[in-house]
Amino acid sequence: MGNRLRHFVSIRLLAHALILRSFKKRFITMATGQINVKTENIFPIIKKFLYSDHEIFLRELISNAVDATTKLKGLASMGDVTGELGDLTIEVKLDPKDKTLHVIDHGIGMTSSEVDSYINQIAFSSAEEFLEKFKGKSEDETNAIIGHFGLGFYSAFMVSKKVEIITKSYKDEPAVKWECDGSPEYTMTPNKKTERGTEIILHIADDSMDFADENRILTLLKKYCKFLPVAIRFGEESTWEPVEGEKDKDGNDKTKEVKKPRIINNTNPAWRRKPADLTEEDYKNFYRELYPFTFEEPLFNIHLNVDYPFNLTGILYFPKVKKNFEIQREKIQLYSNQVFVTDSVEGIVPEFLTLMHGVIDSPDIPLNVSRSYLQSDSNVKKISNHISKKVADKLEEIFKNNREEFEQKWDDIRIFIEYGMVSDEKFYERALKFVLLKNTAGKYFTLDEYKELVKDNQTDKNKKLVYLYTTNAEEQHSYVQTATEHGYDVLLMDGILDQHFMNTMEQKLDKTSFARVDADIIDKLIEKEDALPSLLSEEDKKKLQPVIEQHIDKNRFHVIFESLSASDLPVLITQNEFMRRMRDMSAMGGSGFGFDNMPESYSLVVNANHPLVNRMAAETDTEKQNVMAKQLTDLALLSQNLLKGQDLTEFIKRSVDLI
Ligand code: ADP
Repeated sequence: MGNRLRHFVSIRLLAHALILRSFKKRFITMATGQINVKTENIFPIIKKFLYSDHEIFLRELISNAVDATTKLKGLASMGDVTGELGDLTIEVKLDPKDKTLHVIDHGIGMTSSEVDSYINQIAFSSAEEFLEKFKGKSEDETNAIIGHFGLGFYSAFMVSKKVEIITKSYKDEPAVKWECDGSPEYTMTPNKKTERGTEIILHIADDSMDFADENRILTLLKKYCKFLPVAIRFGEESTWEPVEGEKDKDGNDKTKEVKKPRIINNTNPAWRRKPADLTEEDYKNFYRELYPFTFEEPLFNIHLNVDYPFNLTGILYFPKVKKNFEIQREKIQLYSNQVFVTDSVEGIVPEFLTLMHGVIDSPDIPLNVSRSYLQSDSNVKKISNHISKKVADKLEEIFKNNREEFEQKWDDIRIFIEYGMVSDEKFYERALKFVLLKNTAGKYFTLDEYKELVKDNQTDKNKKLVYLYTTNAEEQHSYVQTATEHGYDVLLMDGILDQHFMNTMEQKLDKTSFARVDADIIDKLIEKEDALPSLLSEEDKKKLQPVIEQHIDKNRFHVIFESLSASDLPVLITQNEFMRRMRDMSAMGGSGFGFDNMPESYSLVVNANHPLVNRMAAETDTEKQNVMAKQLTDLALLSQNLLKGQDLTEFIKRSVDLI
């Protein structure tokens, strides 16, 4: 595979020398040899440490078969191989009786000297190198090293007690059979195979019998080989086809079972094709091919296609994000030249894009290496930045070309954009052009448009711009109403990430803050020069305060008097913006400050200019004054959804009596 190839360039040069040297040995009829390693037996080590996932042996062998086939096609196209190439389908066969698994290709094959240099020498010199580095290292470190070693073929020994290679080169040379039972000794004998290509035969080891199971192999092939560029056949499958001219008793066409070769893969997956050749429908079909069990259609797709400074292709989809978005993560599949590598792309795509679905294919991403290694790899960083940029470009393009569609899908894509903006500095800059704010009237604005809309009216006396918002237009209805009556605009911030998003925006935007409509009385939220005078005297307030306090829990509510307008509510409840955010943030992800353990605290604001409050202050009958105070505080509690249980029942009863 590509990445390993790079590590092998130097060893390949050495191989060339070896091929020349072993030229003389070509006519040897039977050879046994000692594999070129100092260690007595490396197989137990391969078995234990090579890959924690034994199953990848199949991916390695089939990748080799695909390579050999692709090379043959390459030679043919250059005229180095002439004549019919024949059927190049790679066949995987399981013999349940013998417990053998066969991988058969019709690629370039190997001459006996090639087997000697590619299999006997090369693989082992790298194995040796591996062992050298492995000495005294922890398992984690070992895993990090493994990716640099091309033990591809030898991974077969993780599951086999004996492996055979029967191969015939496209060159005019006799076929050869190589055999090895897991000891450092191998044998090589001439073979009568006449067909060009290679057959690898694995004699499954007793402790790996699960790989002698048809369903297991089928699952593995579907996982790793679904999009390989050469057709892979595994057994047969049945389809039901109509029999011409024959009807059943209901008059429908009779059908019969037809057995057909079962082809595992789509050799020309959408991401490898040119975007210009694909329709929207093709992209949707490919989505279904990737996720046969997902019924929801994706919102948009992005076709990635880069060949410099690194090679990257792929298609990413924006899915509809559900409330519980964690389960939608980790759906992006990573391929290397169409070979499936992993569906854990953490570290390769920016974190906020792990919510996306789709495929990324790059031979430039080092495989089989640890996460921490990946994250520090400069190529991977470039790839990650590139993907982030592409996603931003695509969003900008849709926004520019079709704002209506963009707005329609906004509620579904805002999570990606907000996530990106709070977590990725570069994406933040790019997204400033198309991030939208939605107000309670359902209208969408860019940041610039919104600033333009509210800047005259919502700038306070300190020249600070205040963006009012609600997290729930239903529950905070009366506050939204008050703000609207003052001529202010109210944003709807009910997304999962809005809290973080607003924090980020406040840090970035100049002299701008966000305030929830119920965070204070409206005249304090956007403080203007001209404060109203109070109709209540300080003495009135002092007398009224304990009357009101006896009806509330003083640990949670703090009474204050404000000079609002007569048309505002007589008593209302507000919750400090800062404290509420701290609590919300701790509840979401833990700020570490323990705010979530603090009791919620509110202000009970008494409107000193409301006629009812003035009447209450002037009331001399304490009984009547108490009823008024109770009724007014209950109303305020009710509007914040804080009146519950027995208090609520009594309130209703009292209200009926009053009427
Ligand atoms: P890598 O694939 O990384 O080179 P392997 O150990 O898997 O390492 O294979 C070593 C070499 O053996 C390959 O590079 C190739 O030259 C040769 N080889 C393996 N499998 C085949 C095959 N099916 N047909 C032809 N050559 C093969």
